Amino acid sequence: MSRFWSPFVKDLVPYVPGEQPKVENLIKLNTNENPYGPSPKVVEAIQRELNDSLRLYPAPNADALKAEIAAYYGVSSAQVFVGNGSDEVLAHIFHGLFQHGRPVLYPDITYSFYPVYCGLYGIEAAPQPLDDDFCLSPADYRQTNGGIIFPNPNAPTGVGLPLDEVEAIVQGSPDSVVVVDEAYVDFGGETSIALVDRYPNLLVTQTLSKSRSLAGLRVGFAVGHADLIEALERIKNSFNSYPLDRLAIVGAVAAMQDQQWFDHTRNAVIDSRDRLSAALLELGFEVLPSQANFVFARHAQRDAAELAQGLREQKVIVRHFKLPRIDQFLRITIGTEAQNQALLAALKAIL
Ligand code: PMP
Repeated sequence: MSRFWSPFVKDLVPYVPGEQPKVENLIKLNTNENPYGPSPKVVEAIQRELNDSLRLYPAPNADALKAEIAAYYGVSSAQVFVGNGSDEVLAHIFHGLFQHGRPVLYPDITYSFYPVYCGLYGIEAAPQPLDDDFCLSPADYRQTNGGIIFPNPNAPTGVGLPLDEVEAIVQGSPDSVVVVDEAYVDFGGETSIALVDRYPNLLVTQTLSKSRSLAGLRVGFAVGHADLIEALERIKNSFNSYPLDRLAIVGAVAAMQDQQWFDHTRNAVIDSRDRLSAALLELGFEVLPSQANFVFARHAQRDAAELAQGLREQKVIVRHFKLPRIDQFLRITIGTEAQNQALLAALKAIL
């Protein structure tokens, strides 16, 4: 810390992402990446763009990608906002749609970036406890002058909320912006995008990092009422009028177009998740019902920190959060079948 730091910067508590160790010789199941690569068509599109156009600025509004996402979900381009990963989209939402000094409700066990954004933008954080089954209780989410945000399915639990319960929350707080963070929705959750035409206060965010295996390219988006999208465009254009670089735009368009690759890899992850959950149960774990590309599990007898350490010694990396109520859980990203088998073998050696 230096004397040049403002009090604002001194007080910031930044987000700490999961570690990205060198992948060689490691089975990396700690940050919910997709174990299969992106569509080969993504790589081809990026290669073409690399050969042609890097000396040119990108399209200021990433219109080609917005049009692709709009067509995919049956909305208009004016209802789509894009950014560098959904983290950036969320940052703009906290900055521009949630208001300074007003409460934003979110689950107490959830994506840990939300409290960070609250701190950054002077928003009052109002975490709501999950119930005994780690489910979100819609009745807790009534809000009149602030905002509401929750992932669906939730992270790091993987537990999903049915669409009618999401709708009850959106309906119950008509004067607040309700953000549904659908980073993991493609692995078995129900998207709320179909509701955006009916509710002007609903904003749905998604990412190409997980189900389209493009975490390294950094592309996320929001779908909602054109007025909410316009507010986000104003914020974004006040920072940077190029939402995405050229490689990200062409890569993301190609990814959205390759439905076959998407279906194949997404289904493979879902099948492996169900097999891994059953195998963990047999090893004495309680496994929360997951609609995501990870499972959240605790062992009846063994300490989670010790298990995480034991796995690490066998070169398998999973995520352990030292947080109240979940410190006995491990969050395990679904890998390839071979990786999942290696994880199970490593666990059997420790248990
Ligand atoms: N929301 C949730 C719930 C997440 O877990 C993540 C991934 N860490 C994100 C949003 C952000 O993902 P990205 O910025 O890669 O789109």
